[in-house]
Amino acid sequence: MSAGKLLMVGAGLSGAVIGRHLAEAGYDITIVDARDHIGGNCHTTRDDQTGVMVHIYGPHIFHTDDAEVWDYVNQFARFMPYKNRVKTTSLDPKGQRGVFSLPVNLHTINQFFGKTLRPDEAHDYIVNEQADTSIEDPQTFEDQAMRFVGRDLYEAFFKGYTIKQWGVQPSELPASILKRLPVRFNYDDNYFFHKFQGMPEEGYTAMIEKILDHPGITVQLETVFDRAMAADYDHVFYSGPLDGYFNFDLGRLGYRTLDFERFTYEGDYQGCAVMNYGEEEVPYTRITEHKHFAPWESHDGSVCYREFSRAAEPEDIPYYPIRQVKEKALLADYVKLAEDSAGVTFVGRLGTYRYLDMDVTIREALDTARGFLQHAETGQAAPAFFTAPL
Ligand SMILES: Cc1cc2nc3c(=O)[nH]c(=O)nc-3n(C[C@H](O)[C@H](O)[C@H](O)COP(=O)(O)OP(=O)(O)OC[C@H]3O[C@@H](n4cnc5c(N)ncnc54)[C@H](O)[C@@H]3O)c2cc1C
Repeated sequence: MSAGKLLMVGAGLSGAVIGRHLAEAGYDITIVDARDHIGGNCHTTRDDQTGVMVHIYGPHIFHTDDAEVWDYVNQFARFMPYKNRVKTTSLDPKGQRGVFSLPVNLHTINQFFGKTLRPDEAHDYIVNEQADTSIEDPQTFEDQAMRFVGRDLYEAFFKGYTIKQWGVQPSELPASILKRLPVRFNYDDNYFFHKFQGMPEEGYTAMIEKILDHPGITVQLETVFDRAMAADYDHVFYSGPLDGYFNFDLGRLGYRTLDFERFTYEGDYQGCAVMNYGEEEVPYTRITEHKHFAPWESHDGSVCYREFSRAAEPEDIPYYPIRQVKEKALLADYVKLAEDSAGVTFVGRLGTYRYLDMDVTIREALDTARGFLQHAETGQAAPAFFTAPL
């Protein structure tokens, strides 16, 4: 006998992982998604022209320190070794364009300043000769970066990229964004620090398809959620935009969106998966070449995307929540509305208006499903949020 009927709005990682866990606990799960595919923003598909596995909503690299989450994803996909190594094209202190290694590390410093420093020498050089020590109490991101690394590194590697990505001057962003010295004094250019890192061999959509492959789960694509649907279910898990659930009644939460300009190339276009562009004058933030995200495959042709960031308009895909003072005030109002709504739990990156990496999304989805089961056991209604958005 079914434990009850539940509706998941969104067939991304949040909806899939919660749905699977609760299907295994005996619930009948219906998952609706407005799009014509599963996988949410992690969606991958093979490019018709080149055969390359492309990440349709921007490249996704799986990395985590959470062993349970790593074991979880490995049940549904074979993970191939992948290390994210990012390069950037920018101007050196003499105004010459060059290609440098990111995050800023000893290789970057030596190449950028034309030096051959060892780690402790480089540390002393940055702290004593580059950092702007006249800034005593940094209030802004710009001040903080200048105080840590000085003008040359700041302008080449932080300033232009931040302006393009967020559409604001670094002097308008809080210093708290940069908590530590953003430089490595060794040659480690692995972008992520996490213990586990990899790529699913057949892409994320194939992995999520396996998560959804359970007799208790039904998926309906190209189906936009309507609040009237809730009447047919015991509870709704909503991974769409929080403000969208309330028809944007209080106004819109601000997001950045991305425009992707696709182009193909015969051969190897840039020799790496991710090339950032630090100069403000170059209108895109980066170019990604997707065959390099699957180094175990071999393709003659190549497909690349130039990535442009801008403020999201109502019809755009919301990518990065802005979460500055103004948005947080509006978010607080929506959280109140959500907490006064019965029968719905808001989950995932859009439902809680936070940037969430995939591993955090899965961790929260598992915790949400377990929390729901505990509430159900004791006859309590599930809350609007298992993870507070504020
Ligand atoms: C550009 C970019 C790059 C990223 N790169 C990485 C990375 O390298 N590594 C990493 O770990 N994480 C990365 N992430 C984060 C990753 O995308 C998220 O962790 C993940 O997508 C969150 O899953 P979700 O299910 O919460 O949301 P989503 O994937 O957004 O899924 C929500 C789903 O709900 C559907 N939906 C919304 N509203 C409705 C409605 N009203 N009716 C029906 N369906 C609806 C949407 O169509 C969507 O399919 C990146 C994110 C972005 C934006």
